[in-house]
Amino acid sequence: MINAVFCDFDGTVARRDIGYNLYHHFSNGRNDEVIPDWKAGRLSTRDCLRLEASMVTASPEEVYSFLDQFELNRGFVEFTALCRANRVPLTVLSEGLDFYIDYLLERHGVSGIPVHTNVGCLENGSITVKFPQQNRHCKRCGNCKGERIEDFRAAAAGPVRAIFVGDGYSDACATREADIIFAKKDLEEYCRTHHIEFYEYDDFFDVAGTLEELGCLNR
Ligand SMILES: [Mg+2]
Ligand SMILES: [Zn+2]
Repeated sequence: MINAVFCDFDGTVARRDIGYNLYHHFSNGRNDEVIPDWKAGRLSTRDCLRLEASMVTASPEEVYSFLDQFELNRGFVEFTALCRANRVPLTVLSEGLDFYIDYLLERHGVSGIPVHTNVGCLENGSITVKFPQQNRHCKRCGNCKGERIEDFRAAAAGPVRAIFVGDGYSDACATREADIIFAKKDLEEYCRTHHIEFYEYDDFFDVAGTLEELGCLNR
């Protein structure tokens, strides 16, 4: 059995939701008008992100200095080393934007992790979003995390035990494909509502501890 870990980025690998805070700060809070429609399923993730990005007024310099306040979650750097030592592949699956994910990981000295995400271009004093990840079936997601786990299984040399760590509604599709789920906040509520089994966690020391107990990782 191949153990493979898939992590959401905003609110999971990063302690706070950088995407939300970025759109919120640089739209003067106007993005809050569209979030309820997205949470209720009336707006697809792609349409929601396009709208939020279009509300942004910011130069690249302003955006990058804003990003400097954000930190990775406790234990994530150690967790990447533990996965590497156990030859357990670790992949980031995100509905965020590539530039801030790359910036945060690099600033914390984390390199060599595959990241599947949307693309944000800082141009003309705003942000435009592109969706290079192709979904076969899912109409709701920009980058469907369930389909990315399916892709991984299809390419793997043997049976995969998929471990997913997340915190939000954009992780919903991943819960259909994952064998072991770590959930908090909105994802925890989603799992409870849909009677999906999950492990609680706060930081990556918790995730590592549970995966050791389950025999998926050895220290
Ligand atoms: Mg999240
Ligand atoms: Zn989906």
